[in-house]
Amino acid sequence: MKRCAPCSSSAAMHAELSGRPARLPAAPSDRPSLSLAEPSATSVGPGFSRAAPSPLLSLLFFTLLALALASVGQAAEIADYRVIRQAASDAAGRQMVAIRSFTADGVPHLLAVDPVALTSYDLPASQLKLSGASADAALSSTPYLKALTRYSSPPYRLQNAGAIRAENAADGVFLTVDLCPSKRPFERGLFEAACALGHGAPTPVAVAVSGVWLVSHPDEIAYLKAESAAGRLAITWVNHSYHHVYDPKVALAQNFLLTPGTDFSAEVLDLERQLLARGLAPSPFFRFPGLVSDQAAVLRLRELSLIPIGSDAWLAKGESPRKGSFILVHGNGNEPKGIKLLLPMLKSKQLRLLPLPAAFGD
Ligand SMILES: [Zn+2]
Repeated sequence: MKRCAPCSSSAAMHAELSGRPARLPAAPSDRPSLSLAEPSATSVGPGFSRAAPSPLLSLLFFTLLALALASVGQAAEIADYRVIRQAASDAAGRQMVAIRSFTADGVPHLLAVDPVALTSYDLPASQLKLSGASADAALSSTPYLKALTRYSSPPYRLQNAGAIRAENAADGVFLTVDLCPSKRPFERGLFEAACALGHGAPTPVAVAVSGVWLVSHPDEIAYLKAESAAGRLAITWVNHSYHHVYDPKVALAQNFLLTPGTDFSAEVLDLERQLLARGLAPSPFFRFPGLVSDQAAVLRLRELSLIPIGSDAWLAKGESPRKGSFILVHGNGNEPKGIKLLLPMLKSKQLRLLPLPAAFGD
C-alpha cells in the first residue's frame, strides 16, 4: 500500500493516505453551527401558509440559510479552475501575470503573480485588466519569466532540481518548512521562535504544504493564519502536492510524483484550490515531494507557471546554511533532528530570514 512519508526516506512516520477530496470546500466540521429558527409569519408575503410552508418558501429559506453560511464560513467554494498565463495590469498600472482563473463563491477571480517581485495575489477578476498578449513574450525579461525558463532547463536531476539557493547576492537565508502528510504533532515551537525574531515585524517563512496535511490540520492552519494576521509571520505558501505519495520499497525514479499513474496536474491544482478556499494565495513556487522529479515533471511544472524549489541546506542531512541558502526543515513532526538544529540558530539570531521571492532577480 502506498503511504505518505516525509521527504526523508529514512524518517519513521507515515500516515495512511486518505482519498482525494470529493468536493471543495472543507469538511462540514469547518462550518459554524447555527440554530435554525422557524421563519416568522410576518416575514412571509401573502399567499404563503403559516402552518405548512410551501416548497417555494422552503427554497427561499434554505437559499438564505446557504448564503448566511457562506458569509460566515471559513471556506469558499472554488470552481471553474483553469490554468492560464496572460499578461495583465492592475488598477495602478502594475504589470502582473494571471496564471489561474476560477470562481470563488461564484465570483470570477484570478490568481496573479507580480513578475518583478514574484509575489502572488488572489484578486477579483474585475481588479485586473488582461492585456490579451502572451505573458511569455511581453514579460520575458522579468525575474519571474526568467526563473521559469532557467529552472525548467537541463540538467534534469532526479533529486533537488530547480532553484536550491538565491540567484542574487542575498544578505540572509530563506527558511522553507515542509508539511508533508503526518500524524505527529506540529512543530509550533519552530514558528514561535520565528515569530520572536521579528520584534514587531513579520518574520518571512516559506511553508511547503501538502494537501493531505492541510485538510487534516485545521487548528494548525488557523494558528498560522492568525499569526500572519497579527503581523508576526509573513508566509509564502509553497505547493508540496496534494497526496505526497511515497513507498519506501520503490526506487526514486518511480516514487513520489513519479509514481506510475500519478495525475500530476491534479496533484498541483487540487492543493492550490484548497489553499484558495481558505483565503490563502498560492505562491508561484513548488517543492517536489522528496525533492524527486524528472524532465517531464519539471517541464509540466513550467506549463503550470511554477518554479521548483530545492534546498542546499537540508539541516537534518548535515548541510549547513550560508548566505543565500534555502534551508529545509520539516514542521510536521517527522524530522525533529532538523528542528533541534534550527532552533538554536533562530534563538541566537545567527540567521537573517528573507522572503523566498527575494531570492529571485538581481
Ligand atoms: Zn515532503
